[in-house]
Amino acid sequence: MATKDTELDVILMNGRIATQDERRSFAQAVAIQDGRFASVGSNEQIMALRGAKTEVIDLGGRTVIPGLNDSHMHPIRGGLNYNMELRWDGVPSLADALRMLREQAQRTPPPQWVRVVGGWTEFQFVERRMPTLEEINRAAPDTPVFVLHLYDRALLNGAALRAVGYNKDTPAPIGGEIQRDKQGNPTGLLIARPNASILYSTLAKGPKLSREDQLNSTRHFMRELNRFGVTSAIDAGGGFQNYPDDYEVINELHTRGEMTLRLAYNLFTQKPKGELADFTQWTKLTKPGAGDDFYRMNGAGEMLVYSAADFEDFLEPRPDMPPVMEPELKAVVRLLAQNRWPFRLHATYDETITRALNVYEEVNRDVPFAGLHWFFDHCETISDRNIERIKALGGGIAVQHRMAFQGEYFVDRYGAKQAERTPPIRRMLELGVPVGAGTDATRVASYNPFVALYWLITGKTVGGTALYPENNRLGRMEALRLYTVGSSWFSSEEGKKGSIVPGQLADLAVLSSDYFSIPEEEIKRLESVLTIVGGKVVYAVKDFSKLAPPPLPVSPDWSPVKYYDGYAPSNVAQALGAQTDTAHARRALPQDRVDAVAAKARRWIYGESGLWTLGCDCFAF
Ligand SMILES: [Zn+2]
Ligand SMILES: [Zn+2]
Repeated sequence: MATKDTELDVILMNGRIATQDERRSFAQAVAIQDGRFASVGSNEQIMALRGAKTEVIDLGGRTVIPGLNDSHMHPIRGGLNYNMELRWDGVPSLADALRMLREQAQRTPPPQWVRVVGGWTEFQFVERRMPTLEEINRAAPDTPVFVLHLYDRALLNGAALRAVGYNKDTPAPIGGEIQRDKQGNPTGLLIARPNASILYSTLAKGPKLSREDQLNSTRHFMRELNRFGVTSAIDAGGGFQNYPDDYEVINELHTRGEMTLRLAYNLFTQKPKGELADFTQWTKLTKPGAGDDFYRMNGAGEMLVYSAADFEDFLEPRPDMPPVMEPELKAVVRLLAQNRWPFRLHATYDETITRALNVYEEVNRDVPFAGLHWFFDHCETISDRNIERIKALGGGIAVQHRMAFQGEYFVDRYGAKQAERTPPIRRMLELGVPVGAGTDATRVASYNPFVALYWLITGKTVGGTALYPENNRLGRMEALRLYTVGSSWFSSEEGKKGSIVPGQLADLAVLSSDYFSIPEEEIKRLESVLTIVGGKVVYAVKDFSKLAPPPLPVSPDWSPVKYYDGYAPSNVAQALGAQTDTAHARRALPQDRVDAVAAKARRWIYGESGLWTLGCDCFAF
């Protein structure tokens, strides 16, 4: 308990503070000292501790939550690219999305591209369809455009095909498909079949930002996350994100004290068949926990060995991992357990999880995991039996709202019944397994945590499809708990952050409206109006704008971030009125128009060879 002779830095009072303490209590006021919460209580109790230099912030009755912690996203890579990506995240209509694309193409200087790299789905659009290649070419006749859709395809305009050099003579790539017309010319559609490597290797052919712009870009991405109350994330590595080379920018921001998001990062091997060599080298170079409360090493993954990576693409049948998965995974996991490295593994399907657990149990008999915070990521189709096996081995499960972006595809392939427990979060909690919440942003799902909380609570996709019955949905308090206390386990930082209690890191968000009482549909439109990390204001708007950190001009000058506010602002969505509600929107569009766009979309997306056999009933308007 702070006293007047050790002066408090800040008091926030007159709020509705959801502390996430053991009793889930609410408080009115909180005091912060030296970057940590010092005292929590009633207005009278806390104001009595005020010193002469204590800054007092009146919350005006607003709801306060602990800073959100996304236990699985890719912010280090996302930050390097953020300023050159046009985000369709949260954009309510395809017409808006294409207008943004057209505008951005006009202001993008050669040889730069316009990239839309995930974070959206056609189901969020009032039109309920993808853009066509024709529309993309019309919007950008000269500037290369690369549009990534989930994990399954990319659309390139003619200028992008020229820039990457794909033409009639380009041989068929091994890791994917270049769709061609009757004459053999690439149409612009790239398909992730058997995997997404054609998408990402093509994306990697584009220009990068300069080092200075990457620093600025990463700061803007952190600020964008702060806008939604995110104060911590666990970085799951990522393809084309090499350790240690691609960590120089984040290292420098850390050294300069310019991080506004706490990061724990996992190391992701980039070399099929060279994984063991990578991890052997890394265990000599660094160790878990290296760093500080802002930036620390968190172990290995989410890629441990390529032969175990079952990417989710629900347009394709479930992939069977090759037999070499077991020996390869065993060698890596053994090395990690011997070095006491926590590890995480990307695993979508129960079949992959079964095989990974067989390996883990075998290694554990030899080299006990003994309290190591290892975990699976995703687990959309995990069985109860495998949840029990994870529990027995002391592991956890990090869940993300990937289904909110592709649940419709899953239902189409496997049926609504199977989709009811994708993933079975309630069952995981009942069985006592640590569960952390997150998004897996930025390339499939968006990073907006309130859309993920909305999904946990309502069981609905961003397109409005209800996936889960009551018994696999969470209450608001419980969902928030996964996103705060829950996620802290996944970087072995439980008790250090996630609750607004004395001694924990002073990370919190003051919300635009009351998370606990607003209608469910409004949860996804929440934002923070004041975000504090380590006792410092990192984001402030509206009543709190006087407290905001200095403005940060965007570079380069043509960056989409300068013109559009990252995730589509909820006031834009609100201005569009009924259009933001897909049910209304569907009713608002005349049926003949809907049919016309849908038919046109299908012609283009299916292409000459009828590739996208989506079973249109599921997508009926
Ligand atoms: Zn993954
Ligand atoms: Zn991921």
